[in-house]
Formats: sequence, structure tokens, C-alpha cells
Amino acid sequence: MLKKCLIANRGEIAVRLIMACRELGMMTVAVYSDPDARARHVFLADEAYPLGGNSAKESYLRGELLVEIALKSGCDCIHPGYGFLSENEDFAGEVIEAGLAWVGPKPATIRAMGVKTVARALMQSAGVPIVPGFQSESADDALFLSEAAKMGYPVMVKAAGGGGGKGIRIVRSADDLLEALAGARREAQNAFNDPRVFLEKYIENGRHIEVQLLADEHGNILHLYERECSAQRRHQKIIEETPSPLLTPTTRAQICEAAVNAGRAVNYVNAGTVEFIATPEQQFYFLEMNTRLQVEHPITELVTGVDIVKWQFKIASGEPLTLTQADIHQRGHAIECRIYAEDAHNNFLPAIGQVKLFIPPHMPGVRVDSGLSSGDHISIYYDPMIAKLIVHDETRQDAIGRMQTALRQTVLLGTTTNIVFLLTLLNTPIFRDGDIHTAYIDAHLADLLPEAPPPPLSVLFALALSEASITANTATPTGDSDGDRFSPWGRTDSFRIQNTR
Ligand code: ADP
Ligand code: ADP
Ligand code: MG
Repeated sequence: MLKKCLIANRGEIAVRLIMACRELGMMTVAVYSDPDARARHVFLADEAYPLGGNSAKESYLRGELLVEIALKSGCDCIHPGYGFLSENEDFAGEVIEAGLAWVGPKPATIRAMGVKTVARALMQSAGVPIVPGFQSESADDALFLSEAAKMGYPVMVKAAGGGGGKGIRIVRSADDLLEALAGARREAQNAFNDPRVFLEKYIENGRHIEVQLLADEHGNILHLYERECSAQRRHQKIIEETPSPLLTPTTRAQICEAAVNAGRAVNYVNAGTVEFIATPEQQFYFLEMNTRLQVEHPITELVTGVDIVKWQFKIASGEPLTLTQADIHQRGHAIECRIYAEDAHNNFLPAIGQVKLFIPPHMPGVRVDSGLSSGDHISIYYDPMIAKLIVHDETRQDAIGRMQTALRQTVLLGTTTNIVFLLTLLNTPIFRDGDIHTAYIDAHLADLLPEAPPPPLSVLFALALSEASITANTATPTGDSDGDRFSPWGRTDSFRIQNTR
């Protein structure tokens, strides 16, 4: 088994990875940027080293420095989390070159799946259905126009190197295609340093359904069933759930089999996700493969009982999967809400500033994945996702009720969050009926932004107590330079507040 891991990430996912290592008896090394010097992942790891800098580019994206720190601190592996360097095949290669284990798929797999057009071609030859589309190495606009006309509108312009919902345009008529091509190319060049775009038939009222895979180095591959992530704003997921309310048992079996075939076609190793778009009639098509851990992996963990992150480390250690497909079952229903520090009433702009008080809900069937503590600052430098609320219950209806209660029990003071927006979304008939599709939120935004209700009494009460908590939580840690960490359990004041509520 691997013994010591450098966690090349921050926030909730760094915390999640550290806890998995701890369960496995592995040591952990955290890294941090200047604004993250007192972040939770830094306290929790066995050792922590500064990267310097503020922006991701100045800190968490410094691959060479990360490898150097890993080697100097005696690590035998690096886990990249998601975002940052997780899908960077050059970094994965450098990690392996340095004699460290990469907790993820082979660099060649990351490369092949990193370009959507390449992935589409590979999947087509493996017999996995792909969305009808058009791709060309040339940027000849006349060609794109004639191919789009053949395909029929609406079409989607997508960045070949895409990710995070960037470089995507829906085009409803030929009049708008040239402008969309130019806009998508510009955005793709900025975001991915690659201006190539391609066309896909736009699936109306489409449902985002993805399948979690686990594969070891010994040729074993299995799926952990699907997740549905159709509640999206600007092609980014907000609420995810499993099982999908769309799929019948027959289609579920088919889509899971297609995902396993996709994984086999690229000799996939470690955890990965195959994303599909499905019509309301359950016709499904391959979209892309994410060669990393996914933000929404916890809902799968709750429903299948399989710890995906621990398996990532075991697989990277060379262990064979001891699970078989027959061992994996979907039990009950799980939902995840991504809590963002953002202002829904102000075009969802990140709400930066200090979180004065964060008291997550403590309830049966509720899991909170977060890297945030009271007193922490939300900065402009990173993704403003501050916590994931994940619930598990017997039925979908129970899980929705549990999620609503958990959201209302979440105390987050000092910054604007999307909690009210999430509550509104969970209450819309289309979500409750299990019919929400990927375009719904963008098309109905005005209806989803009602006046914010007054905060509940518990929140006002907590507000009155918040000053004490801030004083306790901004105390400077006294860990010494050779890696002794300050105990997070020393932060007793926030616990005292909880106990007196
Ligand atoms: P998931 O598919 O796991 O839900 P997301 O698409 O929401 O993941 O992305 C996970 C994180 O990584 C987010 O913080 C997102 O901003 C970031 N991310 C994903 N892909 C890219 C990319 N190609 N470039 C930059 N950031 C990305
Ligand atoms: P990214 O790498 O940015 O995650 P994806 O290819 O996964 O890009 O697409 C992001 C989202 O855009 C999907 O989850 C889906 O909601 C929507 N989408 C992508 N392709 C199509 C399509 N052909 N038709 C309809 N919606 C699509
Ligand atoms: Mg995607």
C-alpha cells in the first residue's frame, strides 16, 4: 500500500482526500497558497508546505514545485483531486517520471479523453453511441454552415479542449452560427489555449446522465451505476442525484454497459466518469469522459456503499478490485447540492468576503463535504463552492425533504450564498416530478429568483453569537516548521456555540 500522499488541491476535495488517506493509514502532505495559509486542509494534513502566490497559476498549478515538494517530503504518490492539474497529462507524466505514483488514470488516457473530438471518434469505433455531429481540423466557416444545415438546427458549438461548461454555444438558426463559432473559439482559446470547436446536434430537453467507473491495473472494470445532473446553470451542475428519475431498469442496464465498454476501449484504470446526454425518451449519447474524481462522487458512495476515494488509492497501489459487479447495488436515493458563495440576485457573481459563522447541519443521513471553517475568507482566486450537502434516504421524495431540512439547518453568515436558490429549485414542480432538464434553469431564471424569505430564528440567534466564534477561529496556529500541525479540535468555541443552541 502507498504510504504518503501529496494532495495537490485545496478546499473540500483536499479535506476529503486527507480523510481517506488517514483511514488507510497513509500520511498526507498539504500544499497551500498565501490566502489558504490557515485553511482547513492545511490544519488537517500531517505536513503542509507553502506554494506562495495567490492565483491558481501562481500556486496550485505549479507542477514542478509540487513534484519537488512531494519528493523532498518523502511522498510516494500525488492525488490531484479535480480541477487544477487533475486532467493535465503532462503533469501526470512528470509525476510518474519522478518515480511517484499518480492517483488517476494513465497519462495517455487523459490525453485521449482530453480532446472531445478524439474521444468521440474513439467511442464511435468502440460502438458507444455519440451525438450526431461534425468535426473538422479546418476552421472553414462555410463548411460548418453547410454541415449544420445538413444536421438541422438547433446545433451546439463546443470547444474540443472544453471543460467546466466553457466554450459552449446553442445555435438555433444559420443566422447565428458564424457569431457563435467566433465567440466559442475565442472563449476556448482563452480557457484551454486551443481554439478548435466542433458541432453537435443539440438535444432539446436533454438529461445529463453519467456513469461512475472503477477499474484496476489487472483488467477488472466495473460501474457504480449512474448519477443524474440535469439541474444545471450555464452547463454547470448545481444539484445531482442518484438513481436517475428518468431511467427505466432496461435503459439503466444499457447505459451502464455502454460506459463499461467506453472504459474498456481506452484500457481505463482508476476512477472515471462517462458522461451522456439523454433525450426524454431515454435515447442516450456519449458526451465526454472525465478522467478524474468527480465533484458529485459522494452521492454514488452513499447509494452503493463503495468508498470511491479509498479505492483510488488502493488501485494506485496496484491492488486488484475485490468487488465484483454483482456486489454493487443501488440502495435508496441520494442528492447533492453545491453550496456556493454567490449572489443569485446579482447574476450569480461570487460573493467574496469573510464567512463569519459556518455551522453545518447535524442530522441523520446528511453528509457535509467542506473545506471551510468559520472565519475563513472567500477570495476571488478560486471556485466559490464552499460546501457540498449530500443526503441519503429511502426514497427520492424522502431525500428531497431531508435536503430541504438540511439546507434550512445550515448556518452560513457573513456571505451571500445560493441556499435560498437551491431551496426554490428543490420546490419547483418540474424538479419534484423528476423531469428537470439541462436547459430549464437558464430558461426560467426569473421565476426561480423570488424575494429572499427572512432568515429563520436559529440563524438570527447564531448571528448574535458569531463574534465570539470569529475571535476563536482566527487565532494564529502555532505549528512548528518541521511539520507539526495545530489541532483543529483546538477550535472549541464553535463547538460550544453549537452545544448551547
Ligand atoms: P464535475 O464534472 O466533476 O461536476 P465540474 O465540471 O464542475 O466537475 O468541474 C470541477 C472543477 O474543476 C470545478 O471547480 C471546475 O471549475 C473545474 N474545471 C473542470 N474542468 C476544467 C477545465 N477544463 N479548466 C478549468 N477548470 C476546470
Ligand atoms: P464540459 O466539458 O464543459 O463539461 P460537456 O460536453 O460535458 O462539457 O457538456 C456540458 C453540458 O452541456 C452537459 O452536461 C449538457 O447539459 C450540455 N450539453 C452538452 N452537449 C449537449 C448536446 N449535444 N445537446 C444538449 N446539451 C448538451
Ligand atoms: Mg462535462
